[in-house]
Amino acid sequence: MKKNWLLKLIIIAIIITVAVCVIISCTNNDNSNSTNTNNDTQQTSTNKSEPVTVSLIAVGDNLLHSTILNDAKTSNGSYNFTPIYAPVAPYIKAADIAFVNQEAPLAGSGYQASGYPLFNSPQQAGLDLVSTGFNVINMANNHALDKGAQAVINTADFWDSVEGVTMLGIARSQDEASEIKTVEVNGVTFAFLSYCYGTNGMPMEYSYLLSLIDMDKIADDIARAKEISDCVIVSMHWGNEYQLTPSAIQREMAQQLADMGVDLVIGHHPHVIEPAEWLTGKGGNHTFVAYSLGNFVSSQHERETMLGGMLSVKFACQDGKVSISEAGIIPLVTHYEHGLHGYRVYRLSDYTDELAARHGISDYDKPVSVKYFEDLSAQVFGQYRIY
Ligand SMILES: [Zn+2]
Repeated sequence: MKKNWLLKLIIIAIIITVAVCVIISCTNNDNSNSTNTNNDTQQTSTNKSEPVTVSLIAVGDNLLHSTILNDAKTSNGSYNFTPIYAPVAPYIKAADIAFVNQEAPLAGSGYQASGYPLFNSPQQAGLDLVSTGFNVINMANNHALDKGAQAVINTADFWDSVEGVTMLGIARSQDEASEIKTVEVNGVTFAFLSYCYGTNGMPMEYSYLLSLIDMDKIADDIARAKEISDCVIVSMHWGNEYQLTPSAIQREMAQQLADMGVDLVIGHHPHVIEPAEWLTGKGGNHTFVAYSLGNFVSSQHERETMLGGMLSVKFACQDGKVSISEAGIIPLVTHYEHGLHGYRVYRLSDYTDELAARHGISDYDKPVSVKYFEDLSAQVFGQYRIY
């Protein structure tokens, strides 16, 4: 009897052990199955090209008049421009690519900082643009040669020394002038080309110093840019000053750029805003053109010049194709106080009637109000105004 009882006990123990092992094994299998399932899911999503979105913002002329230089001067004689840009800095920092037209050389030591008519901005202004979030700096504008060839060379040397910045439009040699500048974001390559209508009558000692508008050269540059990039963006310093509508020449050149397959045209120089539109190129391609973004910051005395634009573009990138999924312009206001100080750039949606009532522009032109800027931006940007 004792032996039978012991045998039964051993059999029960074996059954329990086997049962426990089976349960554990099943549980493990379930886990490994679910892990495999996850792996399969991950594998599937990795194989399929996920859409990538890249954001770009662009603003017009950073035009540092002498009163702005005085305002930015600190007690120890250095400069600090960051308060001017502080109200819009978060929007600029949020973009993958942030473009600004720096409307003056940054000639560095040996050159006095100066405003109109022959501009030269302190190099600190360049550093402060970068700390504000800008990473593509355009130098192809009519003030680039204000301080001569050496100042252009110094400016290019300066931008070389600043990490994370792509500078456009000036060069120290023919080879450098022929280079196509590219910016890569999330594996998508953007080519940037930049051109300017002229030099304000300043002599250009070497043809490579400033990238001037020449449609044959532009066609060649665009063809080369397409070979090495997914998307071609062209900066144009063009148009008639203080005109709220693009000239016939701007429209003609914009259509030519569309026909050449450019994706985006960033226009500036008129000191006031001009409209934006979609053009269709002869290949059936689509090109978004912002004819003029006006001033980013200035101390001009006409109230229209206090309204600028921040172009905001989203690129959708999938399976090697890049297209613009959203494009519009955010109105900006340059503010200054009576007596030409306290310069600030605001989004119009952040600007208030209290600030408008204090705007120093009323010393030179009619007073401004939020409604004045709302009406003008709606009139010019129309359906492409982001507000
Ligand atoms: Zn200009």
